[in-house]
Amino acid sequence: MTEKLIDLRSDTVTRPTPAMRAAMAQAAVGDDVFHEDPTTNELQEILADILGKEAALYVPSGTMSNQIAVRLHCRPGEELLCESGCHIYNYEQGAYAQLSGVVARPITGRYGIFQTEQLQGMIRPEDEHLVRTRLVCLENTHNRGGGRVWPYETLSEVCRWAHQHGLRTHLDGARLFNAVVASGIPARQWAQHFDTVSVCFSKGLGAPVGSALAGPKDLIYEARRHRKLFGGGMRQCGVIAAGALYALQHHVERLAQDHQNAQVLARGVAQIPGLELDPPKVHTNIVIFRVAPELATAEVLVELLAQQGVLMIPFGTHSIRAVTHLDVDGGDVERAVAILGEVVDQLHRRPQPQASGSSHAYGSNPSNE
Ligand SMILES: *Cc1c(COP(=O)(O)O)cnc(C)c1O
Repeated sequence: MTEKLIDLRSDTVTRPTPAMRAAMAQAAVGDDVFHEDPTTNELQEILADILGKEAALYVPSGTMSNQIAVRLHCRPGEELLCESGCHIYNYEQGAYAQLSGVVARPITGRYGIFQTEQLQGMIRPEDEHLVRTRLVCLENTHNRGGGRVWPYETLSEVCRWAHQHGLRTHLDGARLFNAVVASGIPARQWAQHFDTVSVCFSKGLGAPVGSALAGPKDLIYEARRHRKLFGGGMRQCGVIAAGALYALQHHVERLAQDHQNAQVLARGVAQIPGLELDPPKVHTNIVIFRVAPELATAEVLVELLAQQGVLMIPFGTHSIRAVTHLDVDGGDVERAVAILGEVVDQLHRRPQPQASGSSHAYGSNPSNE
């Protein structure tokens, strides 16, 4: 294999560009636990402004950001409501329980989106037998939903209902900027419906490390305490915050390119017999498709693709996820489609393998985020 790998496993695989590395190398730094890292402070201020929040806190990962939010909004013995396919519920080791003594109650959505009516009856009455319902968490875009952008009206209505009923709201906006670019709705407009908002710099934005949690000043003050408790107090983190700041300033609009590449990928997939897009419409940079069970399991197809230099991940027994990002261009995507077509064509021609049925619906791959 002489050609370069086309890595579509996740938008986390991007490497910092030379310009981003230069910004990182030149970053002014100080001890951030003393609030003295100027680059981190600048990043936090700029992000808070973009999201229309009073303050923001830079944290090492999206998981920490979400879990600090859960900790802020809920006490032990309380409950959060979320969509059943979401990251907080599936891919964070049940940290809400492990770290904060909180339980989660999932609501089944369609491609990650649920309706306000589905919240009705979900708030538990005050009763000594019951946990107390406190928080609603939404994910936008929705990863397992195939990068879906929440319909804006639905999202605002869900949040309005939650607030009217005394619940807090948190947005897992790991890919909020993908939603911004795809919808044309500014980040602060999405964010206004939430008490706290988490965003990731290390996904489509292409920074090497970090996420941030934004919200009101008093909550972010508390969030700093929780970050320290969770082991996320960082020192001269301006070096990595500079990558995040660079990403925020230079890599948001270009997400449109990733979305366009995902459309090319989706159109290609849709034309290959035996493959089916699921969801059928791709909104952003995530493409999920099913493989006809008589053809191969996801695991088998992913392995055959890897042998040809195209990396994707199994996302269920017969589902595969591919994600476009900064480090793949239009040519790479066209080549990936061509290779996918050839590999599937060969599967059609060969004697049928036995389905192993061993992979779990929520995957065993570390890059499920
Ligand atoms: C990636 C991701 C996160 C956080 O992931 P980390 O790897 O902890 O940074 C949270 N939510 C969603 C939807 C994600 O895709």
